[in-house]
Amino acid sequence: MNTNANYDVVIIGSGPAGSLCGIECRKKGLSVLCIEKDEFPRFHIGESLTGNAGQIITDLGLYDKMEEAEFPNKLGVNVIGSLSKNEFFIPILAKTWQVRRSSFDKMLKEKALEHGVEYQTGMVTDVLRDGEKVVGATYKTAAGSQNVNSKVLVDASGQTTFLSRKGVAGKRKVEFFSQQIASFAHFENVERDLPPFSTNTTILYSKQYHWSWIIPISPTTDSLGVVIPKDLYYKECNSPEAAIEWGMNNISPELKRRFKNAEQVEASQSMADFSYRIEPFVGDGWLCIGDSHRFLDPIFSYGVSFGMKEGIRSAEAIATSIQTGDWKTPFYAFRDWSNKGQQIAADLIRYFWIYPIFFGYQMQNPDLRDEVIRLLGGCCFDCEGWKAPSIFSNAIKEYDRKQMETKIAS
Ligand SMILES: Cc1cc2nc3c(=O)[nH]c(=O)nc-3n(C[C@H](O)[C@H](O)[C@H](O)COP(=O)(O)OP(=O)(O)OC[C@H]3O[C@@H](n4cnc5c(N)ncnc54)[C@H](O)[C@@H]3O)c2cc1C
Repeated sequence: MNTNANYDVVIIGSGPAGSLCGIECRKKGLSVLCIEKDEFPRFHIGESLTGNAGQIITDLGLYDKMEEAEFPNKLGVNVIGSLSKNEFFIPILAKTWQVRRSSFDKMLKEKALEHGVEYQTGMVTDVLRDGEKVVGATYKTAAGSQNVNSKVLVDASGQTTFLSRKGVAGKRKVEFFSQQIASFAHFENVERDLPPFSTNTTILYSKQYHWSWIIPISPTTDSLGVVIPKDLYYKECNSPEAAIEWGMNNISPELKRRFKNAEQVEASQSMADFSYRIEPFVGDGWLCIGDSHRFLDPIFSYGVSFGMKEGIRSAEAIATSIQTGDWKTPFYAFRDWSNKGQQIAADLIRYFWIYPIFFGYQMQNPDLRDEVIRLLGGCCFDCEGWKAPSIFSNAIKEYDRKQMETKIAS
């Protein structure tokens, strides 16, 4: 760390968003300090990567390391509807992987170190301000509290939503998908499909917001998640173990079949209230990226790829703001770019949950199939002029309009 503790950029959190932001800022010649509260490797959920994420990883030069780590190759996602009906397959167009996040996040952090990002283990506890402007952060280590000055403070703290909690960014507002609880654990001896499909993601759903994932994260280990509405969780389960058991008995017979001889190798965990958005998420001297300002719904595995994309795109905004002394133009451009891409993903996910059978048809529609596959691959930020986003968006607007009419009438 610099003796005077002044950096162009200070990043809170070393998940995929923080690491990518750090790397890109270093490529632009900026000095970067990343402060991370946890020692790596550490557990994290979010193990299935989109094709877009795979491309970013390959562009980082990590292809060989991903292969050496034996992260399974993900060729696609098999989505299986209630009672094993309404099945469709989403192929992945770029090379990508399923990951154990503890080792994957460590790999990204090491890449950031190679690029000259400096690291500090510590918990960021406060922000430093000069009037309205954010000018740094306070962090705590075993040795005590310290201040560090920044030209831009980046919140990449994930679901902690640090700057929102500190009243710098806006308040956390629930998204459409908010009322779910996810329970998950790792297992060995899960029955897999035959190669080459054995390392794909399987999604099984019974009805809206009742679903589960199976993600092979190593040659022998699979991640299982069961996601159910909050009221059902508290009424019938009340623990991650019971929720997983509920999923086995109620989501699909296919789930039970695959886990018949499985052996759990990690403690089960539950996570609630993971779907939200925060506005504003940029301001004078600060911005938020990745989960620190928005998370939709994990069903199509957008989280890591959106975090990395925002990490990359934010670096451009940060560099311009430092060069020109004008934060508004680049930060508002970053905000609008992010909102547009996230909204396209939100509409697509809502369309799937409201009209799952039509969604399956759209996957077969020769006019839309390619676009839908690319959107599911993470291209939500790069789809200017495509037809599919407006089809999903118009259907959702119409659905919301009808819901509103019914509400007013009753
Ligand atoms: C149930 C569920 C399943 C999911 N499945 C998938 C999936 O299959 N694929 C996918 O791509 N995504 C998935 N996601 C989403 C994914 O986990 C996140 O979107 C992704 O990790 C976001 O990356 P990030 O860098 O923004 O935040 P994170 O990865 O959460 O990183 C934030 C970092 O900040 C650190 N931090 C927090 N507060 C502080 C502080 N005060 N000081 C210092 N450090 C701090 C944390 O320790 C952490 O390391 C899932 C999410 C959920 C809830």
